[in-house]
Amino acid sequence: MSLQKCDVVIVGAGFAGLYLLHRLRGLGYSIRMFEAGDDVGGTWYWNRYPGARCDVESMQYSYSFSEELQQEWDWSERFSAQPEILEYAGHVADRFDLRRSIEFETTVTAAHFDEGARRWNIETDKGARISAQYCVMATGCISSTQIPDFPGLSDYQGKTYHTGNWPHAGVDFTGKRIAVIGTGSSGIQAIPVMAEQAAHMTVFQRTPNYSLPARNGPMTPEYARSWKDNYAALREEQRHTPKGAIREFNDVSGLTASEDERRAAYEKGWARGGASLLGSYRDMLLDGSVNETAAEFVRDKIRVIVHDGAVAERLAAKGYPIGTKRICIDSGYFETFNRDNVELVDINETPIERITEQGLRTSDNAFEFDAIVFATGFDAMTGTLFKIDIQGRAGATLRGKWDAGPRTYLGLMTAAFPNLFMITGPGSPSVLTNMMVSIEQHVDWITESLLHMRAQGLETMEPTLEAEDEWVEHVNVVAHRTLFPLAASWYMGANIPGKPRIFMPYVGDAGTYRKICDEVVADGYKGFSFQPNAARVAAAE
Ligand code: NAP
Repeated sequence: MSLQKCDVVIVGAGFAGLYLLHRLRGLGYSIRMFEAGDDVGGTWYWNRYPGARCDVESMQYSYSFSEELQQEWDWSERFSAQPEILEYAGHVADRFDLRRSIEFETTVTAAHFDEGARRWNIETDKGARISAQYCVMATGCISSTQIPDFPGLSDYQGKTYHTGNWPHAGVDFTGKRIAVIGTGSSGIQAIPVMAEQAAHMTVFQRTPNYSLPARNGPMTPEYARSWKDNYAALREEQRHTPKGAIREFNDVSGLTASEDERRAAYEKGWARGGASLLGSYRDMLLDGSVNETAAEFVRDKIRVIVHDGAVAERLAAKGYPIGTKRICIDSGYFETFNRDNVELVDINETPIERITEQGLRTSDNAFEFDAIVFATGFDAMTGTLFKIDIQGRAGATLRGKWDAGPRTYLGLMTAAFPNLFMITGPGSPSVLTNMMVSIEQHVDWITESLLHMRAQGLETMEPTLEAEDEWVEHVNVVAHRTLFPLAASWYMGANIPGKPRIFMPYVGDAGTYRKICDEVVADGYKGFSFQPNAARVAAAE
């Protein structure tokens, strides 16, 4: 296929790609946009497992860029379920006529920077070859599913599923014996719903997780109105919060609180639902002793909810601070283990030895299943980028450059890969925040950068190595001031064998990060270097 030209290639039609397309198309940039799925929605397109829902309130987990959009859309629940969020993504695509610019069922396989032409050569699995001035990875942080390499995996004769790649037609588990491996956010959401259908469910747990009740419920007209009437101010407030979400946050130390005060604070958070319990004290994720009081509070709740004391103890997370693995938000998860048809297997006590033709074998038992559900997570933050053969200056690969961990400036760009942008890339707050707010911030920042270059006749932009090194160091230092590195989490790359153990997102608060990004621009794009447009330079000479 011949080489086609455009200004910008956007990879991915999730919420990041959709908003970027909307902004750039309106500014007259020519765009090619590719999406592996057959429709928009990104993470909400793929993660269709039963019980999938957002754990950020819908009034906040939605776009703020269009007043009409935020006024006209009605959410039916406090925390929306996946089908409704997907419907919202579809509505946005229709409302802003975005689909016509998206090439679906097309995977970008390679992106090579041509130093002579100062452009990106991009290839897809459909054989398209495109030359673009800019390439933007809107590929999501949690989009490459991982199924552990269990011995015997290919021997299994039953059905297998991964929560992150769920069949679009749904799955009927009625009368089936099923296994669920994995108890992260996805497993914890799916298990209660699947348990209601299955004849029998065996949950294989490696690390018990802290989970808080969502207290989901129907959206009341009054609550929706309280947001819609004040959206302008509330969205602005949201942008400057540590997590990109307005929630109760007690800006006092838990160290000085009495035991009774702490219990009252945690009870309040537990009753309110969602992640609010973690906002009880400002040092919750900084001070181990404060954290332990909240962790023990949650363990005590599990001991009350789960009738079988031994099962409750297995479900109660220990050995790492609460909140340092992504906090799970559930609807009836612990209660599910009181059902007669649900069994918990702790694979630390009795490891999975192999998958068999009929099921799996642990060190002390053989199990037979009609289906195995892998809720085993993702190669987060870098996995999807590494699937694309990305080469920057002098043919250096991104994978090679990031061999010891991702290196970016602000999570937006990486040195020696000019005009390659990442939306919510490693080194930005991303997954630690309300993604909608972080996505909008990055899209706006990238859009303003492109406009700056257009206005100034600049052709390429990239971070200096010095700025990048300083940022990577800063991200690392800030992470190590917190309790986060104490957990073997996917934030640390710990769920993927052989992946470098680096805390990948920027923990230094989304509001502060936004300020830093704005200051970089105000300071003449401090830490970035630009190359002028070659034609302009020639004309000037
Ligand atoms: P995850 O948090 O990485 O959980 C994966 C689970 O599989 C963990 O329990 C893990 O155990 C287990 N596992 C992995 N490899 C294993 C192995 N070899 N043997 C046995 N068990 C293994 O993945 P996830 O639940 O899909 O969630 C990923 C992220 O997506 C979340 O943290 C969240 O950010 C996002 N998410 C959000 C929502 C929401 O908004 N409500 C819902 C779902 C997901 P270990 O803990 O021991 O590694």
